[in-house]
Amino acid sequence: MIEGDDSIKELAKPKLILSRCIEHDHCRYDGSTISSPFVKELEQYVEFQTICPEVEIGLGIPRKPIRIREKNKDLRLVQPETGRDITEEMEEFSSEFLKSIKDLDGFILKNRSPSCGLNNIKIYPEVEGRPRRDGQGFFGGEVLKKFPHLAIEDEGRLRNLKIRENFLIKLFTLSRFREIKKNKKLSDLIDFQTCNKYLLMAYNPELVREMGRLIANQSNYSPGKLYSEYEEIFFKAMEKPIKITSNINVLMHALGHFSKKLNAEEKAFFLDALEKYRQGVMPLLVCLNILKAWIIRFNDDYLAQQTYFEPYPLELIPVTTIYQ
Ligand code: SF4
Repeated sequence: MIEGDDSIKELAKPKLILSRCIEHDHCRYDGSTISSPFVKELEQYVEFQTICPEVEIGLGIPRKPIRIREKNKDLRLVQPETGRDITEEMEEFSSEFLKSIKDLDGFILKNRSPSCGLNNIKIYPEVEGRPRRDGQGFFGGEVLKKFPHLAIEDEGRLRNLKIRENFLIKLFTLSRFREIKKNKKLSDLIDFQTCNKYLLMAYNPELVREMGRLIANQSNYSPGKLYSEYEEIFFKAMEKPIKITSNINVLMHALGHFSKKLNAEEKAFFLDALEKYRQGVMPLLVCLNILKAWIIRFNDDYLAQQTYFEPYPLELIPVTTIYQ
């Protein structure tokens, strides 16, 4: 979507759950907080609900550290210095809290935490020894299990610009769908499919066709059934991040809109940028901007409405280049 377009293409405000110790409270075991310039920047574009699972189950601030320990082939959440085992409390809290969640697009959780961490969390052996690093936090693991289709990352991984880009694209696209799902209007779904066509093509061209077929056969479905069938394919389409080769296909597709209007030098210039992007020496943003200039110059209304060209607020694009 090129800036200035309106209606359903407008960016909805995504709803996220955030580990409270990230920029919001001094609730870590030692009373400290985690700084994240990205979360601070993001805050004006999203709605955060913060949560600290360890505080929720009654552990104080400060508190003795907790860790995951293997016991009789079972994983327990323990506080070694006090001998407390808080496995059941944390499991119960996580299950009840996540059960109550509705209308959500994603999570940003603290990395390395035995509670909030998503992956590569330390698991200590039953007897003294070196921990392995292949665990999930008790809360974070439950999040992944219950919401596999949402945009979920830990704040450590989000420092990587490529991972951040994928996270933001998914987050804002999910949020736009959540908005239209409220009223289940056929016209909104058609609009959504139209405006996100190029973006979804970059994710998974086969599934976009399937979504199109579903809408074409809408008369066979009630609005509720149509939306739930569409949602299932939509979530599946966004399972994996967009690949470089898929972006190149979509960009070539977009170039096709102007092939009769451009001269040989202009086309060669674009193809050269595309090749540099393929080689990883030029950001995707450069190719997108060349196309955007042509969209404006040739008044291409169809491409102007595509979210692919601005899937999330431009202000969130880091000043450093984005490689994808
Ligand atoms: S990582 Fe999670 S449990 Fe630990 S302090 Fe942060 S919010 Fe609380």
